[in-house]
Amino acid sequence: MFAKGLAPLDLITPARAWAAADAATDLAEPARTRRLMPPVQSVVMFLSVVGPFVGLLGAIALLWHRQGAASIGWPEIITMIVMYSLAGFGVTIGFHRLLTHRAFEAPRPMRLLLAILGSMAAQGMAIRWIATHRRHHQLSDRDGDPHSPHLHGEGLGAFLRGFWHAHVGWCFCRDEVDLARSIPDLLADRAMLLIDQLYFLWVGIGIFAPAIVLGLYFHSWRGFASGLVWGGLLRIFLMQHVTWSVNSVCHVWGKRPFRSADHSTNNFAVAIVSLGEGWHNNHHAFPTSARHGLKWWQFDSTYLVIKAMSWIGLASNLRMPSEAAMEAKLLPPTTN
Ligand SMILES: [Zn+2]
Ligand SMILES: [Zn+2]
Repeated sequence: MFAKGLAPLDLITPARAWAAADAATDLAEPARTRRLMPPVQSVVMFLSVVGPFVGLLGAIALLWHRQGAASIGWPEIITMIVMYSLAGFGVTIGFHRLLTHRAFEAPRPMRLLLAILGSMAAQGMAIRWIATHRRHHQLSDRDGDPHSPHLHGEGLGAFLRGFWHAHVGWCFCRDEVDLARSIPDLLADRAMLLIDQLYFLWVGIGIFAPAIVLGLYFHSWRGFASGLVWGGLLRIFLMQHVTWSVNSVCHVWGKRPFRSADHSTNNFAVAIVSLGEGWHNNHHAFPTSARHGLKWWQFDSTYLVIKAMSWIGLASNLRMPSEAAMEAKLLPPTTN
């Protein structure tokens, strides 16, 4: 049923073994975009996706028990914002703009720290996340794109299936053939391989650190549970769906100011909650730009943090499209 050499692979397979098995696959085999993963990997992905949903139910239960949303205190809200920002910027600054697209340079300890923080978002191991995203840019909205909403046929049913696939369904599909070919830079970095392999440790720290902090703050197990839910599982749930909305919503709804070989859009609402990633048409038009919100009014908190990092030497050589390059790709307003 599965390609020879890939069957035993799962999310805890070290990246080099995964890449070796990937390289050994028969490229003549038909595309397997929508075929399911090996069982072990499916179980891990199921837990990664459904576990945080349990956090949502936990949050509702906690609110219910405390009789109303007003009973959430600042400690929970601050914990959640801090953890959302740490893991979120780990993904947007680290996984995405730095490690996938090399939109700027950062000192090595900073690169590794960002990879660890991004892992706490529980969106999959760093190297596979990056490989998947590089493939998304190579084949955006064409055959071989791991999570396009546009490859499922015509009609409402096909649209809904495509949207589901782009949002979360793709997490349960096996990897694209030859996915690991695009990541030699990461496979050559021993520290990055170690961070990748310790994925579940970072996810665990991201869940239990806020639990311990609030447990100590409130001196109670109830505080521990509160930190686990708000700073851990619910935070992961929200961040996952925000990130996945960039794949689904931002390839369907929004404005397309720039010419790009796909259906990517700028979506204001997604941009705000996704820390600037929702300026997705800008990003597909200029993938190596450190800044996604290219207009002054396009709020891009990730870029603001990168800019602040550059002032204290934690980021350098920020790449940005020139005015002429932007002008050249601009579509007439009527096509929006
Ligand atoms: Zn995209
Ligand atoms: Zn990208």
